[in-house]
Order: sequence, then C-alpha cells, then structure tokens
Amino acid sequence: MTFNDDAQLDTSGVSRGGGGRGGRGLAIGGGGGILGLIVLVIYLFMGGDPSQVQQPQPQGQGQEQVGAGDLAEKCRTGADANKDVECRIVAAQNSVQAYWRATLPEASGGRYQWRDTNMVLFGRAQGEQARSACGTADNNVGPFYCPLDKTVYLSATFFKVLEQQFGSSSGPLAQEYVVAHEYGHALQDQLGLLERAQQDPKGPEGGGVRTELQADCFAGMWAKGAVETKDAQGRALMKPLTENDVRDALSAAESVGDDHIQQQAQGRVTPENFTHGTSEQRQRWFMTGYETGDINKCNTFAATRL
Ligand SMILES: [Zn+2]
Repeated sequence: MTFNDDAQLDTSGVSRGGGGRGGRGLAIGGGGGILGLIVLVIYLFMGGDPSQVQQPQPQGQGQEQVGAGDLAEKCRTGADANKDVECRIVAAQNSVQAYWRATLPEASGGRYQWRDTNMVLFGRAQGEQARSACGTADNNVGPFYCPLDKTVYLSATFFKVLEQQFGSSSGPLAQEYVVAHEYGHALQDQLGLLERAQQDPKGPEGGGVRTELQADCFAGMWAKGAVETKDAQGRALMKPLTENDVRDALSAAESVGDDHIQQQAQGRVTPENFTHGTSEQRQRWFMTGYETGDINKCNTFAATRL
C-alpha cells in the first residue's frame, strides 16, 4: 500500500507492446540490413542472456498500441495501483519521472532537465512479444531499457519470476525498485554515461557492473524522495516508506545479484562473468542512494570500492 488512494495516475507514457502471439520475428543473425549492424545495446535488469532480445527488425519499429486504452481505464488512482500490478508499475513510473523532473536540474547544477521516457508493458501471456528498436522481447526477457528508442520495456510477469525463481519479496517496493532501476538507465542515457557500460563490459570491476550499480543507486535516490512526488493536481503520489518497504526493495536487489543468480543457475559463482554486481553490492548501492539522496554519491565509475 505505498500509494495514496486518491492520487491520480497518468497512463499517457505507458503503452502495451506486442499482443502478437507466435511469429518469433527474426532470429539472431537473420536481421541483415543496416539495422542489423547497430550494436545491440540493452540494459537488462538482471544478468540474462542479451541474445534473448532478438536482432532489430527492418520494419515495424512503431509500437503497437494494443490495449493501451484499457490501462487508462483501469489505472486511474493510487487505489488502483495498490491493488493491481500493472497499475502499480504505472504509478511507480509516474513517481520516478516526477522525482527526476524535480531533482535533476538542481542535482546537475542546472545542466540537465529530465526528458520524459515512455514505458512499454508486455508479456502478459506466454509468447506475447514487444518490438523495440533493440529487438523483439518476449516474457523470457527481464526488464530493459533500450537507448535506441529511449524506452523502458517491462513484463509484469517478471515479478513472478523474481519471486518464485529468485526468492525476492513480492512487496510493492520490490516491484517499484525494478521500475526505478530501469529509469536509472534512462537517466544515464540522458547524462551520456551509458557508453561506459560497453567499456570492459564484464567482470566484477567492469563497466557493466558499474553501470548497473549506479542504476541501483539512482533507484535508492528515488526511494528517498518518493514521498515528495506529486501527481498533476499536486497531490502526493506516495505514502512515506516504511522499514518493510525498504526491506522489500533490498530483497529484490539481493535476489538479482550476480552471485545469487549464478549460484542458482550453475551451482557456483564466476566473477569474471559478472554483469550487475553481487547481492551485497546491489543492496549497498541502493542504500547509498537512499541514505544520501546525493547524485554525486552514485558515481560508481569513480568508486574505488564497488
Ligand atoms: Zn540494469
């Protein structure tokens, strides 16, 4: 119950992707054309196999607005967000954007204004796909940010995976943290930091891990400031976070640590393949953002201790 019941939600920046079942799109390597040459740059929430996101398709970049209207219909208020997972994602998206809209200009010394970033929800049913400029994603793919179309992609069924496969709490802030983390990548893109993920991308000290831990830190900053975020009418979107809420977010961060995922998947930990950081690191960087609310404290690229 993190949202104020009477807060008004804005679904205009959230659409549904896909809806098409079957038709796997183009397989890896089959893309051809100029788009096939674009380096696949995606930032998955957890260490998945990026090849699951298929190569960009030559046409059809436009998002299908399948059923977008029903989101507007069912997700009207904070009360809806407190009981429906998709509406909770919408509300979290509203709050995260409101936070950066209010915070970024000052935090960046007037150099940056937050640019609104859309989100596509997909994967309600098995096989339902979303087309992104980074490729076609189905619900085997974790949430990601695609810098080519500046959009966050998220499957609501992912939260079940998080809970059932990785042992995360299913509390609301566990879910809202995922949204805030992906918007952290959008912020990195706006700040010109995303390219660093490509430098020395793997390994415990690599650009990938530093990029992911910074997105966790940004998510923590949002969590600290979330109570101040407002809807279009100036009503507070969220209630003050409780210790339980913070525990939920930390539980999610723990469940997607590279060491935890590797231990589960392969029975051992191989740091040379780290892409997101350990459970301990992900929690600690979230808390760094949460405790300080200071964007300068989220400089994982300069950190000597990650
Ligand atoms: Zn990420």
